[in-house]
Amino acid sequence: MSKRDPIDRDGLQPRFWERKPLKNLSQKEWEALCDGCGKCCLNKLEDADTGYVALTRVACRLLDDETCRCTQYDIRHQFVPECIVLTPGNLDSHAYWMPQTCAYRLLWEGKTLFDWHPLISGDPGSVHRAGVSVYQMTVSEFETPEDEWEDHIIEEPL
Ligand code: SF4
Ligand code: SF4
Repeated sequence: MSKRDPIDRDGLQPRFWERKPLKNLSQKEWEALCDGCGKCCLNKLEDADTGYVALTRVACRLLDDETCRCTQYDIRHQFVPECIVLTPGNLDSHAYWMPQTCAYRLLWEGKTLFDWHPLISGDPGSVHRAGVSVYQMTVSEFETPEDEWEDHIIEEPL
C-alpha cells in the first residue's frame, strides 16, 4: 500500500480540530479530518424500530478496498447519485449513521481523535495498521444480494 497521503494535510495548525468548532473549519481543515478509512462507503442496514445502524462488508460499487478510496470521486454522482457530500451544515443529519470511528462523528459527539488518525500519527498508513479501515475486507454489492447483507454485518471498531 502506498504511504503517500491522498489527502492534503500539509501546513495545518497542530490539533486545529481541538481549538475550533467544526463549523469554523476551513475547507482544507474539514477535508483533512477524513482519516481515509473508507468505512462510510460500506452499505448499511438500519433497524426500522430502534434506528440502530449496522455496517456491512458490502461495499459501494465505486470503492476500491486496496486504496480505501472512491475510484470516481469527482464524478461519483453520475454513478451513485445518493452519495452524500458531508459538510458542517449537514453533519447533524448524518452523524448517526457514520462509522463509530469516523473523525467527523467522533468530533460531533465531543470525543477526541484516536492516535492512529493520520493528523496525529503523521502517517496515512496508521489507519490501516490499526485495523479500522476497509483495507482488503469488502465484498462486492454486485455479487451480494441484499437479502444476504445481514450475513456480512461487522462489529465496530473493526
Ligand atoms: S468514515 Fe469518516 S473518516 Fe472514514 S473515510 Fe468516511 S468520512 Fe473519512
Ligand atoms: S460513490 Fe464513492 S464516495 Fe460515494 S459511497 Fe461510493 S465509493 Fe464512497
